[in-house]
Amino acid sequence: MFILILGAPGSGKGTQGRILAERLGLPKITTGDLIRTAMKEGTAPLGIEAKKYYDEGKLVPDSVVLGMIKDELDRPEAKTGAILDGFPRTAAQAALVDKTLAQRGQRLNHILLLDVTEDELVRRMRARSQVEGRPDDSPEAIATRLQIYQRDTAPLIAHYTQRGIVHRVPGGGTVEQIAEDIKRIIGR
Ligand code: ADP
Repeated sequence: MFILILGAPGSGKGTQGRILAERLGLPKITTGDLIRTAMKEGTAPLGIEAKKYYDEGKLVPDSVVLGMIKDELDRPEAKTGAILDGFPRTAAQAALVDKTLAQRGQRLNHILLLDVTEDELVRRMRARSQVEGRPDDSPEAIATRLQIYQRDTAPLIAHYTQRGIVHRVPGGGTVEQIAEDIKRIIGR
């Protein structure tokens, strides 16, 4: 089973993805974490290329991330299922995910769309910046990330809605409430 957690930055994808992956015993593939690790280790080309985009809150170009996404999906752990957190985020990434799974006779089974108001997103990211000090949680980078989400990632919702696999999850409640909603939606 392949489940995509989709939502704006700050919507809680990472938190809910972790809970879900643990409950279902599936690996979670998180492009943000992979990029942060590559940047920390200075791995070429990903870590070096990514930094200038990441810090400003821009998407790392597809030319750099598509290879990483393909490698992650092809890992033995992800042969029968995975929780996708933070990708696909562009039409090209969605096409790659669709094609890679289709070649294996698989597909995305559920898209969970975490729905949170923009005020709440900004509030959460500001709070997180106090604790974690992520460079992309600066006010400018937060604004950029929200804009880019609307421009590049939100259109994927229409793409997947046509297939009837999108579930809208109210994302403003407590972590536990949202996790319960998700459990009910996917039926396990
Ligand atoms: P959030 O969703 O809260 O912005 P992430 O950790 O998912 O946090 O992403 C942080 C940053 O990492 C993004 O702003 C972008 O620079 C980069 N990134 C993560 N995933 C991708 C992706 N699939 N494609 C391009 N860039 C990505």
